[in-house]
Amino acid sequence: AEAIKKQPLVNIGTAGHVDHGKTTLVQALTGIWASRHSEEIKRGITLKIGYADAEIYRCPKCPPPQAYYTSATMPKDGKCKYCGTPLEFVRKVSFVDVPGHEMLMSIMLAGTALMDGALLVIDATKECPQPQTREHLTALSIIGVKNIVIVQNKIDVVSKERAKENYEEIKRFVEGTVAENAPIIPVSALHKVNIDALIWALEKYIPTPKRDTSKPPRMYVIRSFDVNKPGTSVKDMVGGVLGGTVVQGKFELGHEIEIRPGIKLKKDGQEVYEPVYTTITSLKTGNQPLEKAYPGGLIAVGTTLDPSLTKADALIGNVVGYPGTLPPALYDVEIDTYLLERVVGIDQPLKVEPIKAGEILLINIGTSLSIGQATSTRDNVVHLKLRIPVVAEKGDRVAISRQIAGKWRLIGYGYVK
Ligand code: GDP
Ligand code: MG
Repeated sequence: AEAIKKQPLVNIGTAGHVDHGKTTLVQALTGIWASRHSEEIKRGITLKIGYADAEIYRCPKCPPPQAYYTSATMPKDGKCKYCGTPLEFVRKVSFVDVPGHEMLMSIMLAGTALMDGALLVIDATKECPQPQTREHLTALSIIGVKNIVIVQNKIDVVSKERAKENYEEIKRFVEGTVAENAPIIPVSALHKVNIDALIWALEKYIPTPKRDTSKPPRMYVIRSFDVNKPGTSVKDMVGGVLGGTVVQGKFELGHEIEIRPGIKLKKDGQEVYEPVYTTITSLKTGNQPLEKAYPGGLIAVGTTLDPSLTKADALIGNVVGYPGTLPPALYDVEIDTYLLERVVGIDQPLKVEPIKAGEILLINIGTSLSIGQATSTRDNVVHLKLRIPVVAEKGDRVAISRQIAGKWRLIGYGYVK
């Protein structure tokens, strides 16, 4: 049970248009401002995928929704604020915060690959849907995130009439989509109003998935670091660190791992990627050391790698597993494609034109993304030559984006053939 308390075992993502309050909501739930990079703070946007963990607690005596708390909303003495009963630990969850900015759709798609469920955040003051509200819901549906809770945010600044009108807009918008039956919880993330009802909805609609821990372990790398301070002597240096989410199986301390596609090398004037092998020397979630790492949250994996290989996110997009268990790194992929009827991520109605040979496309598979040229297209099958190889196998889901007005917009999905 302690192990369970230490590591979050479910990832709940955010989705929704920029400025609708995703990061503020994660802060209301966890007490943590998930975009910590100075550049992001300066620009007020979330550039990278942010994680913030919280423990969920319940009062055994009070009725819902008031029975529900997180570690950030509960009283310091650990007792229910209505009846004084000691609160019971329910589970630890990790919130995965993605950017809503239209320029950053590919990062949102990468984040979606880590989500077991999602909060679709909608600003009640704005007409629904806004372009990225639509595009993100499409992304959730394409990647297969089915457990969705809709958060109607900023109710502190709308009239009762507007709140009702916006509710109807949301209902119309989600009709016939994966979020059709999702609950709609009105909140003020900024003033922390109705957050208990939202926590209750998370408990009800985003259960912790049952994992098959016998599957070969796999982790998606979404950060990598050199944690040594400048000037550290060689004998005190520690190896490179990988940050990512385990998506299946479990990793154990001391095991050997393979990182694919690995590092870029020049061979006969050609750029190629070669897998890297190393050993797990430490495992951590937040500041907690772990013996074993399961799916959920952000895991830091210490290795024996030369830290120059992992510094400054150099290994972002890689996949980690035990040696010999990973799918191949593909420079050429054939994709069975399904295009959207129209481009959902922009204001104007625009039909999605068929993919043409010679066209440059961006694809997301898991958290890795690559850009490639369509060399041939026949029926719905597109052959892509990629600049960076992707670790993928037959049947893997692919999100496909095309540049429209200078920005990558989601146009469809497919499966690796
Ligand atoms: P994100 O781009 O979706 O992550 O949005 P942010 O969380 O960065 O919030 C965008 C702006 O909306 C900020 O100025 C927030 O203070 C504001 N905001 C967020 N939630 C609320 C809310 O519940 N009420 C009001 N009035 N403002 C909010
Ligand atoms: Mg944000």
